[in-house]
Amino acid sequence: MAINRILIANRGEIALRIHRAAHEMGIETVAVHSTADADAMHVRLADHAVCIGPPSATESYLNVAAIISAAEVAHCDAIHPGYGFLSENAKFAEIVEAHDIKWIGPKPEHIRTMGDKVEAKRTAGKLGLPLVPGSDGAVSEVSEARKIAAEIGYPVIIKAASGGGGRGMKVCEAEDQLETLMKQAGSEAKAAFGDATVYIEKYLGNPRHIEFQVFGDGEGTAIHLGERDCSLQRRHQKVLEEAPSPVLSSEDRHRMGEICSKAMSDMGYRGAGTIEFLWEDGEFYFIEMNTRLQVEHPVTEMITGIDLVREQIRIAAGKPLSVTQSEVIFAGHAIECRINAEDPFTFAPSPGEVTSYHAAGGMHVRVDSGLYAGYRIPPYYDSMIAKLIVYGRTREKCIMRLRRALEEMVVEGVKTSIPLHQELIKQDDVLSGDYSIKWLEEWLETREG
Ligand code: ADP
Repeated sequence: MAINRILIANRGEIALRIHRAAHEMGIETVAVHSTADADAMHVRLADHAVCIGPPSATESYLNVAAIISAAEVAHCDAIHPGYGFLSENAKFAEIVEAHDIKWIGPKPEHIRTMGDKVEAKRTAGKLGLPLVPGSDGAVSEVSEARKIAAEIGYPVIIKAASGGGGRGMKVCEAEDQLETLMKQAGSEAKAAFGDATVYIEKYLGNPRHIEFQVFGDGEGTAIHLGERDCSLQRRHQKVLEEAPSPVLSSEDRHRMGEICSKAMSDMGYRGAGTIEFLWEDGEFYFIEMNTRLQVEHPVTEMITGIDLVREQIRIAAGKPLSVTQSEVIFAGHAIECRINAEDPFTFAPSPGEVTSYHAAGGMHVRVDSGLYAGYRIPPYYDSMIAKLIVYGRTREKCIMRLRRALEEMVVEGVKTSIPLHQELIKQDDVLSGDYSIKWLEEWLETREG
């Protein structure tokens, strides 16, 4: 059952993150990479590296045949998919397992269920998670949509069943827009995800995005590692995340955490997962579950001291979780800033050569990044180039440390979102934790300069 060599089916900071956990466990790593990433840090640090294709992700990081062949040729006994790319592809998980390679992830059937948002909502409801009021399943007829919207009240949001990454959503304010928006949502969903299925839910006015980290051993034991508040978003994409949420009491955390871990236990869930909720006026509403490691997982690691990738690898190797619920202790506060290679305020991508690089350091400062001076950020992939994660005993101390750490970060040659974060954490509403998922976009609109 032991895992001795892991193929990391990803790139960038998350490939490095997985490599680090593996090496700390005495496990060898095999990097895969496209021709555009031959000089990338994840390739340099891994014990072995295999080139799997040209720059285009479809031909490399999404190329199932090439990745499986690499795993076989390099004698890997497990594959970690990271996030994005093939991480939530149930078929890929099945293929990996069919090749007698351990899949460091949830059971394929759970990936499939939660990947279909209509099925996910139905399952969540059955498992006792509170839902956003809305259609019971997919909606194909406008007349049906009208009926549901009238029941739950406008505004409503039309969402793609196969949606993801904040895409495929339409907010409908009134009945006369419903038909047009339904048609648009359906055809956009078809074009983007190959599936025109849509469903409807109540559009919440001013919620926060609060998600719970869960872990299961696949045998019915499950725990939660508390929540992360990811309300600071632009175009439904997270920009800065923190744990704990500034608005949750420890009773709320305990109550919702127990509901989530019981649901995972009933499901027989295996590995890491995140149950996402919108939170408004003290109530939680399930929106989706991600069956993988999340970008923002380090804030949970900072306040619990638990290495989530290590837990994932242990579970894939058939070992139990290393902690019980009562051994999980939440201490202090952590914030993560996603640093992208883009203009900080227009958000135009800015790939190119990093001419100089200095990572922030010091007590309780963590930088997860594959950057180095001379590295060329390729234009083909996601623009996130680094994550700065900072811990403090209180939220206030954490923010002061974050301010200091952001001042220290140097990334030259390309534009980055560091100035955005610097300005963001000076805002009164951010300092007081008083923000919803709409706050960032509204602030960007009113901001001078
Ligand atoms: P995706 O899988 O594309 O990330 P989600 O269902 O997780 O889609 O929603 C992403 C974001 O969209 C949420 O964090 C929130 O900002 C917004 N959103 C989704 N559903 C609703 C809703 N019912 N009311 C208000 N905002 C919503």
